[in-house]
Amino acid sequence: MCESGRPDDDKYGIRVRATKNTDAVLQRANIQQGYTLVIWRGRHVAEPTELTDEEAAEYWLDVLTVSRALIQHYRPLKLNYETLGNSLPHLHTHLVPRYLKDPTPGRPFPLLPVDGSEPLVPDDQLQSDAEALRSLMNWHPEVDQATR
Ligand SMILES: [Zn+2]
Repeated sequence: MCESGRPDDDKYGIRVRATKNTDAVLQRANIQQGYTLVIWRGRHVAEPTELTDEEAAEYWLDVLTVSRALIQHYRPLKLNYETLGNSLPHLHTHLVPRYLKDPTPGRPFPLLPVDGSEPLVPDDQLQSDAEALRSLMNWHPEVDQATR
């Protein structure tokens, strides 16, 4: 994740918000509608406990901002916040909306590492969701040159 840069759009997803040290990326893999990662883009850390208080405030407040937009846009029954990092030890948080139709109601969502072989959300759907999320969070890549 440290080496991936800060693209607005790549094979994994579409960036829907950025702050100085965080990116939120709506995922292309069709795993769950609205599945989004918040990725720490500051110096390399694996655990949130390695952040300073100031960095942690930026990170977790951004997780909340992105979460609120996901809730407003997708209207899930519940949102799950998963900071795992077992297969990829760089700080990131999976935001997983849970709906009435769900593979494992009442239990953790069965997330697997994304390897590029997953079916994809149709691109027009993903683009339109990304645009709606960017608007809700008032973040627009064309006016944010500082986070590339
Ligand atoms: Zn890293």
